[in-house]
Amino acid sequence: MKFYFPDSQDLVSPTYDFINDEYSPYRVRQRDDVYAHQAVTPIPYDGILVSKAVVDGSMKGAGKYSAPQRERFYRLGVRNFFRLPDTCSTIGDCGAFNYIDEERPPYEVDEVLDFYGRCGFDAGISIDHIIFGYIPEESDDEPEAAWINRQQISLELAEDFINATKTTGARFQPVGAAQGWGPHSYAHSVQQLQKMGYRRIALGGMVPLKSHEILACLRAIDDVRHPDIELHLLGINRVDSMEQFASHGVTSFDSTSAFRQAFMDDRNNYHTATDSYTAIRVPQVDGNPALKRLILSGSISQSQAITAERACLRALREFDREETPREEVLSALETYESLVLGPKKKSYLGHYERTLSDAPWRTCPCALCKKHGIEIAIFRGSERNKRRGFHNLTVLEAKMRSLSFT
Ligand SMILES: [Zn+2]
Repeated sequence: MKFYFPDSQDLVSPTYDFINDEYSPYRVRQRDDVYAHQAVTPIPYDGILVSKAVVDGSMKGAGKYSAPQRERFYRLGVRNFFRLPDTCSTIGDCGAFNYIDEERPPYEVDEVLDFYGRCGFDAGISIDHIIFGYIPEESDDEPEAAWINRQQISLELAEDFINATKTTGARFQPVGAAQGWGPHSYAHSVQQLQKMGYRRIALGGMVPLKSHEILACLRAIDDVRHPDIELHLLGINRVDSMEQFASHGVTSFDSTSAFRQAFMDDRNNYHTATDSYTAIRVPQVDGNPALKRLILSGSISQSQAITAERACLRALREFDREETPREEVLSALETYESLVLGPKKKSYLGHYERTLSDAPWRTCPCALCKKHGIEIAIFRGSERNKRRGFHNLTVLEAKMRSLSFT
């Protein structure tokens, strides 16, 4: 089972100074900053997935690359741009989430073919259009006309795509994108894609589905799937169900969720093999918009906020050196939290207590926890938050390795 990490230009700066919260004056972002596969060993994924929409950034909110980065990507190709080791493979897609509101995907087959070919991808997924809707097998509901249309668009583009790879002698593996709204419609897509000549098929639009619904689709696909067809689950990370998925022909998946939970989830920010913890929020006074407003409106004083922020960081570091008891850290956190949150918001203190008692970073074997200690459990700025995300990827990698796929 291969895990691909979808790229969103998430890097960390190895020389970041956590004590003063500043970058080295000598840092050159594109030269010095590192990706997850450079920050930890073993590499926490088998490959990366890069979306054309993320690189090109033409759609609203999709752009993660600056113009010079985009140029470098096209010039160097995917392997050199990411400084990927040979063990990592690459897969490209169009980033269908970025154009869900459009009537048609905004790309032509030849420009996508050019993107995959010129940038040297190992595999490239056909242009697809996501269907938002699920009708379980036993339901009498009818699919919406727009869903049927989107499936048809995806299949037509997939056919043009594989034909074009043959005509142009493309050197990457073409992957057909299957869209559907239930077990039978997914099976229909897979059947059509097989007929076109695809040997690898990516199942899209399944992110909102429950695991049993994904399984229902996979079972229906089993009825039509040739045994040598490999399935990829787009955007899915269900470690608990992966062994089952594998028994239905799934050989790869991609997901950002373990990474993003580090700073997007309300509670499950720091993962371990068996548990997850809430990271300790110590927002930067000058980087926190809510806090800034309170200061500007005169509700709290800036110096009061800075004093409370510094007290938290100092207490946390002393705690990690076993120089300060947990109760004192919690009381510093409580003081700062009451300034930041105001009276209405819920407190995280109960969760922090568990995080501090278990101090999971102390036993984590990953290079980042070893190097940074408690800093990695502090929810504050992208350097800490992304490192915690990279740590989560190492935990996911270890979990995947402990599964048995027959
Ligand atoms: Zn770790």
